[in-house]
Amino acid sequence: MTNETTAPASGSIMVVGGGISGLTTALEAAEVGYEVYLVEKNPYLGGLVAQLNQYFPKLCPPTCGLEINFRRIKDNPRIKVLTLASVEKVEGGPGSYDVAVTIKPRYVNEKCTACGDCAEACGAEVTDDFNFGMAKTKGAYLPFEMAFPARYVLSPEIIGTDAAQKAKDACKYGAIDLEMQAKTLNLNVGAIVWATGWEPYDATKIDNLGFGQYDNIITNMMMERLAAPNGPTKGKILRPSDNAAPQSVAFVQCAGSRDENHLPYCSYICCMASLKQATYVRERYPEAKIYIFYIDLRAPGQRYEKFYQTIKEDENVFFIKGKVAEVSEDADSKAVTVIAENAVTGEKTKQTVDLVVLATGMQPTAANAKLPADLKYNPDGFIINDFEKGGMFAAGCANKPADVVSSNQNATGMALKAIQTLARK
Ligand SMILES: Cc1cc2nc3c(=O)[nH]c(=O)nc-3n(C[C@H](O)[C@H](O)[C@H](O)COP(=O)(O)OP(=O)(O)OC[C@H]3O[C@@H](n4cnc5c(N)ncnc54)[C@H](O)[C@@H]3O)c2cc1C
Ligand code: SF4
Ligand code: SF4
Repeated sequence: MTNETTAPASGSIMVVGGGISGLTTALEAAEVGYEVYLVEKNPYLGGLVAQLNQYFPKLCPPTCGLEINFRRIKDNPRIKVLTLASVEKVEGGPGSYDVAVTIKPRYVNEKCTACGDCAEACGAEVTDDFNFGMAKTKGAYLPFEMAFPARYVLSPEIIGTDAAQKAKDACKYGAIDLEMQAKTLNLNVGAIVWATGWEPYDATKIDNLGFGQYDNIITNMMMERLAAPNGPTKGKILRPSDNAAPQSVAFVQCAGSRDENHLPYCSYICCMASLKQATYVRERYPEAKIYIFYIDLRAPGQRYEKFYQTIKEDENVFFIKGKVAEVSEDADSKAVTVIAENAVTGEKTKQTVDLVVLATGMQPTAANAKLPADLKYNPDGFIINDFEKGGMFAAGCANKPADVVSSNQNATGMALKAIQTLARK
C-alpha cells in the first residue's frame, strides 16, 4: 500500500477520433495518470452520438452522457484536445511513435465566449452537415448548442468574403482571426488508439431503394435529426416533400447491409435503431401505421429483446418478413410504395406510405480513407487489432459495428492495451 495520490504514470497516448469510443479511451487513460492527445477531425467532440435524438433501449438523450464526459475532460489537464485535426504521418514503433498532426484553421481563438454575435452579423448561410443537409446554418456557427469545445467556427466557404469581415467586425472580444493558417504539430507518443468510427453507408448507391431520387425516402440518421429537439424541424417528424405529418411510415431493414453488392456484414445496430425510431413516430402520431420490412430482426441480449417485445405489443406496428425489392414515389401524391416478397406467405407485398426510412448500415471511416499508419484491415475496412505487434489499437466502430455500450467496453480495453505498451517501454 502507498500513500501516493498521483499514479506512477509516464508517457503519452494518442487517441484519434473524439466520438464516444475515443472519449472513453482518452478519459480512462488520463484518469489513471497518462498524458493523452485526443485528435478529432470535426470542430467538436462526440462523433455520431452527438447527432442522435435518444439512446436505445432507455430512450434518454445522449447529450447527458456526453456532457458528463466533456466535464471530465475539462477537469483533466492531462488531456489535450485537438479539434479540426488529422494525423498526417506516423513513424516509429510501440513505445515511441513520431506523429505529425495537421490542424485546420477554425478562424476563432480561445477568447470566444460563444455569444453568437458573429453568426447574426455574417449574413451568409452554408449547408448544415450536422443535420445531413436538411437545413442551412450560418457561415459563422456553433455546430450544436452543447458543442465541446463551446467555440464558434467560421466555414472555410466564407473566408475571403464580406460575410467573414462582417463576422469579425461584430466580435467585441477580438476572437476572430481571419489570417489563421493551418499548422502542423510533431508529437511523440508511446501508443496510438484509432477510434475513427463509422459513416452511414451512402444510400444513393442502393439504386432500387430510391434515396436521392425521391424526397420522402430518408435514412435512419436523418430520422434521428428530424426527431431531435435541436434538429431542422425542432423535433417534428415531417415528410420532406411538403412538411406534412406522416400517417404511415415504413422502415426498410438491411438497406445496404448483408448484401454482397454493398456491405456484406450485419451492421448490428440498425434493427434496434428502427425499433427505437418506431417509438419516435408513435410518440408524435398515436394513430400512425408503422411497417417494418426485415430479413431477420436482430435484438441481441436480454434488454434489447425486451425492447423488441414492447414494440411488438403495439397493434399498429406491422412486421413484414421480406427483402425489399423496390421503393418509389408517386410524382403527384408524393406517396411512397414499398415492394417486397413476403417470406412467410410467398406473396408479393405492396405497401404505400407517407414516409420511408432506410435502415442504412455502418461503414468504417477507414473503408473510404485509409489511415496514414501501418495497420491491418479486414476486407470491409475495419481495423484488425494485432495484439502481438501491439502499440497501435482500434477501438469502437473502427474495429467492428457496435452499439454505444459495446463501443465503451472495447474502448476501455484498448486504453488498458495502450497503457501496457507504455508500461513495457
Ligand atoms: C440510426 C442509428 C441510431 C443509433 N442509435 C443508437 C442508440 O440509440 N444506442 C446505441 O447504443 N447506439 C446507437 N447507434 C450506434 C452508435 O452511433 C455507435 O455505437 C457510436 O457512434 C460508436 O462510436 P465511435 O466513437 O466508435 O464512432 P463515431 O461516433 O463514428 O466517432 C468517431 C469519431 O472519429 C472522428 N474521426 C473519424 N476519422 C478521423 C480521422 N482520420 N482523424 C480524426 N478524427 C476522425 C469522427 O469525426 C468522429 O468524431 C446508432 C447508430 C445508427 C446508425
Ligand atoms: S467569435 Fe466572437 S462574436 Fe462569435 S461567438 Fe465567439 S465571441 Fe461571440
Ligand atoms: S442489425 Fe438488422 S437491419 Fe441492421 S444489418 Fe443486421 S439484420 Fe439488417
